[in-house]
Amino acid sequence: MSRYQISIDEFRNRLKAQGVSDRVHMAVKCPLCKTVQSLQSFICAGTGKEKAEKYIGFSCLGRVTGAGSPRKEPDGKPCNWTLGGLLHLHEMEVVDEDGKVHAHFEIASPEEAQALEALNTVSETAGAA
Ligand SMILES: [Zn+2]
Repeated sequence: MSRYQISIDEFRNRLKAQGVSDRVHMAVKCPLCKTVQSLQSFICAGTGKEKAEKYIGFSCLGRVTGAGSPRKEPDGKPCNWTLGGLLHLHEMEVVDEDGKVHAHFEIASPEEAQALEALNTVSETAGAA
C-alpha cells in the first residue's frame, strides 16, 4: 500500500466530481474490503443521519451491519474495519486548513458513486412500498 495526502479542497472537489444528486450519496471506499459506501448506505442500515456522519469515511459500513473482519482478499462484502483502530492500513489522508492530517477512506470514482446512488435509491423505494 502506498500512502498519499490530498488537501481538503481537493477532497471536496473530488466528492463534487462524483456527480451524485445529493450529499448523502457522495461515496467512499473502505481501504480493506473495498466496499463503496455513502451516508445513505448507513442510513439504509438504520444508523440515522447523525450517526452516519460519524461513521462515513472512517468506519466501514460493516461495523453497523455486524460484518466480520476484513478477509485477505476483498470479496465484495463490507467488513468491520475502522480507522480508529491500532493498525493503520489506510492509503489516503486529508490535510485540513490548519495543516492537520486525517486518515480517511478513499474517494470512490464517479461511476462507483452513481451506481451506489442508483442502488440505494431503489432499495429506499422498495422499503417504502
Ligand atoms: Zn470494509
